[in-house]
Amino acid sequence: MGNMLSLILNDSIETVLSKKDKTIYYIYKQMYAEQNPIDIERFCWDIDLEVEYTDLVDTQSGYIDNNVIYVNRSHPKTRQRFTIAHELGHFILHPANERMDRKQVYSYIDKTQWKKEREANAFAAMLLMPKARILELYNENKEKILADEYNFTKRLKDEFNVSIETLSYRLRNLGLVN
Ligand SMILES: [Zn+2]
Repeated sequence: MGNMLSLILNDSIETVLSKKDKTIYYIYKQMYAEQNPIDIERFCWDIDLEVEYTDLVDTQSGYIDNNVIYVNRSHPKTRQRFTIAHELGHFILHPANERMDRKQVYSYIDKTQWKKEREANAFAAMLLMPKARILELYNENKEKILADEYNFTKRLKDEFNVSIETLSYRLRNLGLVN
């Protein structure tokens, strides 16, 4: 089964992690699986990845080079968190020579590379906004949500410390909002 398919079917990073690296899985499970918002930077440190905030052109969010994740220092915090999670996704899912975010122009990248970008984005979404927690809150608050969808989105956004766009996209993907 390809990584993307397994991501979509399970919608949980635990499946991906347990196959790839038992140490990462163990650290995640012990310290981060229940933490909202996840301390993404500390999780990186715990698995021996460094996070460095640096000057990048505005269109570039970040990239990973060996064991260092570089993040655009002038982007908003929520976007930086997504970037770190995205690069972590590349680290876990893809071989080192196939992590292309270092390049600043994407117009010529091929289908295979786009697939990897989508996988890294899917990974980031699952890590930052765990489906199990979303469903838990959704089922607890169903009535209220029907009355006020925006309020629910806002609450989750605060709990996960992500942007409203990222959260809305996630909820649509899970089929919870229109
Ligand atoms: Zn990427």
